[in-house]
Amino acid sequence: MDFLISEEQIMLKKEMMTFAKNHLNDKDSMETFSKDMWQAICDFGLLGVTVSEEYGGLGESYLTAALMFEGLGYACHNNGFIFVINNHIWVSQNLIYLYGNKHLKDKYLAIMVAGQKIGAIAITEAEAGSDAMNMATHAEDKGDYYVLNGTKMFISNGPIADIFIVFAVTSEDSFKRYTAFVVEKDFEGFQVCEDIKKMGLGACPTSEIVMDNCKVPKENVLGTFNMGANILTAALEWERCYEFAPHVGVMQRIMERCIEHANSRKQFSRFIGDNQAISHKIADMQVSIELSRLMLYKIAWLKDQGKSAFMETSIFKLYISENYIKTCRDALQIFGAYGYTCEYDIERELRDALACSIYSGTNEMQKNTIYNMIRSRAL
Ligand SMILES: Cc1cc2nc3c(=O)[nH]c(=O)nc-3n(C[C@H](O)[C@H](O)[C@H](O)COP(=O)(O)OP(=O)(O)OC[C@H]3O[C@@H](n4cnc5c(N)ncnc54)[C@H](O)[C@@H]3O)c2cc1C
Repeated sequence: MDFLISEEQIMLKKEMMTFAKNHLNDKDSMETFSKDMWQAICDFGLLGVTVSEEYGGLGESYLTAALMFEGLGYACHNNGFIFVINNHIWVSQNLIYLYGNKHLKDKYLAIMVAGQKIGAIAITEAEAGSDAMNMATHAEDKGDYYVLNGTKMFISNGPIADIFIVFAVTSEDSFKRYTAFVVEKDFEGFQVCEDIKKMGLGACPTSEIVMDNCKVPKENVLGTFNMGANILTAALEWERCYEFAPHVGVMQRIMERCIEHANSRKQFSRFIGDNQAISHKIADMQVSIELSRLMLYKIAWLKDQGKSAFMETSIFKLYISENYIKTCRDALQIFGAYGYTCEYDIERELRDALACSIYSGTNEMQKNTIYNMIRSRAL
């Protein structure tokens, strides 16, 4: 393993932080998607960070992307907006880039990299959450096109997205049951439902989507027909790395606020940080930031080598989400009643953080995955 960070990579991370600090912190955009901030991030060029220049991207490595997303999480306080960016890049545009045929790449990539069209991924259904493979949405071959029927739940970016990666059942064969389709919101029979109100990540709108005899052209099959399970696995790997990369930066930002508060707030004539009960919470934060960062860089390095990181991304997702939530809870405790007020913005950080133990596969499911993988290696 070798991930020596170059001067250029450090500079790109700093540029990302300066840009995010100055352009992605509109306080009025915490609860709604901001078109102005979206335009700003498009102009900055982040959307195409790992996409080749042929499609308007920057062609950077996955390690550089990891550093930039860590910087984004540190400097942009709007976790919901970051979630919009991540869903667009890593589990929509990125899948077209990696698995799309020439038609799909030519049609969608440049406009997604430029941010003119927003992407989303649609896996979950009302009766198929953790058991996603039990999905009921199905596609029928009608000769020139496919017809999709089904309803997908909790689709991040749903209300603002133009292009959806939709997974559907296409075969009875248990090993080759699913296919991924690229579906446009304007396709006949496609409907986006109302916003689902959530406790956090307010800037990222979420909705149900309904496909009622939705007509999808044959060329919009993503990857190989009936081989959607492979794409689903890959999507989870990307999302468990890069949707969680910004959390390293968020934890760093929150820890710095805690240090500042613990060393300025006095009770009993001394700084509260002089109490071990407080300082140990901050020490725990540093330990989890350091270990999460190492795991993130390792995964990015593996991806730069073209290797699979399924086990590593499960471990990273599980570890960082538990510690990100703990960091927010501890920060609230360190700030006392001030932390509980909306003014200090810690309670919002906690509300945003809580979702991460559910999305990308719940933490319980990560433990199942990790155990199943080590068991199959051992036996
Ligand atoms: C903020 C947010 C954004 C999301 N965005 C998207 C999106 O863009 N696209 C998309 O397709 N989906 C999205 N989802 C849905 C997400 O993937 C699912 O919520 C998740 O997979 C869990 O499914 P569920 O909510 O139905 O919970 P369930 O599957 O009903 O699980 C409920 C509880 O039971 C536990 N459980 C279930 N089965 C087992 C088991 N075998 N062993 C141990 N414990 C188990 C779970 O861990 C959980 O604690 C999003 C969810 C959230 C919260």
